Amino acid sequence: MTNNYDDKRGIGMTSDRTRNRLAKRLEDQGIKSLDVLDKIRVIPRHIFVDEALASRAYEDTALPIGHGQTISQPFIVARMTEELLKYAQGGKILEIGTGCGYQTAILSLLFEKIFSVERIKDLLIKSKKRLRSIGIYNVSYLHDDGWNGWKKYGPYDGIIVTAAAAEVPEKLVQQLAVNGTLVMPLGPEGKQELINVKRCKEKFEYKKLGAVSFVPLIKLSLIHISE
Ligand code: SAH
Repeated sequence: MTNNYDDKRGIGMTSDRTRNRLAKRLEDQGIKSLDVLDKIRVIPRHIFVDEALASRAYEDTALPIGHGQTISQPFIVARMTEELLKYAQGGKILEIGTGCGYQTAILSLLFEKIFSVERIKDLLIKSKKRLRSIGIYNVSYLHDDGWNGWKKYGPYDGIIVTAAAAEVPEKLVQQLAVNGTLVMPLGPEGKQELINVKRCKEKFEYKKLGAVSFVPLIKLSLIHISE
């Protein structure tokens, strides 16, 4: 893909050096996949946040993106992507919680097709525009409640949930292909753990991947899909 990201916004922030520094930091923290580190170098994170925050975009930190939501910390984006790559080689990924689209952009460079679901319409529309502006077209977007997944295009080789729930959404595991994997934060605020659920022929295998901190995956009964 041609890189026409650099002119988007803010001279200086986009330099190779700044992005390399972030990738190096993630590598030092334990990210091993060279493919993932490469995509972290390629995608300009500053275009995913408000201009006022652009100077902090290459710090390894979550930042606000409006509507009380946050862009995930680069380390976590890299960690979850690395986990998906290990087990969900190939095709189709379902992402729950598009947010500002940064995680979506990284996934789009590593998998064939991404299906991304977000409950806040404004975030979804902006992300779609933003990703198209940098030449990313292998993503389909749905404004809906992520607890339902996106049955129409399943089963998926990988599912990534970028908000935390107290339990693994049943409909999501049903939409996993055999040998597919789901990566998500599980548990209440302050006690969340990143987990991996692998669908084997006859059973599901769970694995814990370490402590994390995410905004909540809003529960069905509380959902009011915003117009
Ligand atoms: N990967 C995103 C993370 C955004 S934060 C990024 O880096 O920008 C989590 C996102 O999940 C928010 O945008 C929030 O609106 C969305 N979300 C929360 N509950 C949801 C639900 N039930 N269905 C769909 N999206 C949901």
